[in-house]
Amino acid sequence: PGVLLVQVRVAQVSARHLVVFAEDLTQARRLEAIRRDFVVNISHELKTPVGALTLLAETVEDAADDPTAVRRFAGRMRSEATRLSALVQEIIELSRLQVAGALGEPSLVDVDAVVAEAVDRARTTADGKHVRLEVGGQQGARVFGNHDLLVTAVRNLVDNAVAYSAEASHVGIGVRDKAGLVEIAVVDEGIGIPAADQERVFERFYRVDPARSRDTGGTGLGLSIVKHVAADHGGDVTVWSEPGRGSTFTLRLPAASREQAAPAATATPP
Ligand code: ADP
Repeated sequence: PGVLLVQVRVAQVSARHLVVFAEDLTQARRLEAIRRDFVVNISHELKTPVGALTLLAETVEDAADDPTAVRRFAGRMRSEATRLSALVQEIIELSRLQVAGALGEPSLVDVDAVVAEAVDRARTTADGKHVRLEVGGQQGARVFGNHDLLVTAVRNLVDNAVAYSAEASHVGIGVRDKAGLVEIAVVDEGIGIPAADQERVFERFYRVDPARSRDTGGTGLGLSIVKHVAADHGGDVTVWSEPGRGSTFTLRLPAASREQAAPAATATPP
């Protein structure tokens, strides 16, 4: 069991009476530690591509009279810059999600539209790898929340499925509405995730294989964004995976209630 941290303050309210205040600091400390780790990790993650860019720039300067070398190093600079920009984008996204009320004013969201948009945005990368994206099982499900954040979450899952799959494989995206829960499952037949890493992939900056993830342009933030979006919607995200056979990520969200789906009916009784 963890240690309970309590801050105690004592106030003497009269000659014979003391008032004791006790405040549980465990949670506050934990959050503070998470925030501190995040800043340390961000600094580290940002320094890597910036360091690489600096080195590459120096190399280009030294190789100024060798056009082939200049072109090669310039290409590597471009890919480092792309990575850096994805990283900054995701850090901004995640910071935004960590601010209370990131959801804004929630509204009724059409899950089919979310999936269609996410798949559409992932299509370019998938086409590049000849990966077939197959969407199935739509039923007009609706949730209550934020359309754009849900698109980001589903897109992150589809992007990962494509990134960690072989060329010319299949990725399935299925939606079903089951007992008040809307499930969006993204199924791939890619490299899979070892059992020991499955719990950790949702942590910020966690990557099963940093070297490989770097090749795919990964930042290690995608799944923690998905986790935040799920939690903000009162849902969760889980993974099933078998190395060598593939992974299935399932985003579960509470279906919109009848009142949320038809507010007018309750707001204006006859
Ligand atoms: P990244 O930007 O590195 O993909 P994520 O947070 O999206 O970061 O994922 C964390 C790690 O989980 C990845 O680096 C990868 O090792 C693993 N992972 C995520 N999705 C999949 C998948 N569909 N198949 C295999 N491994 C995956």
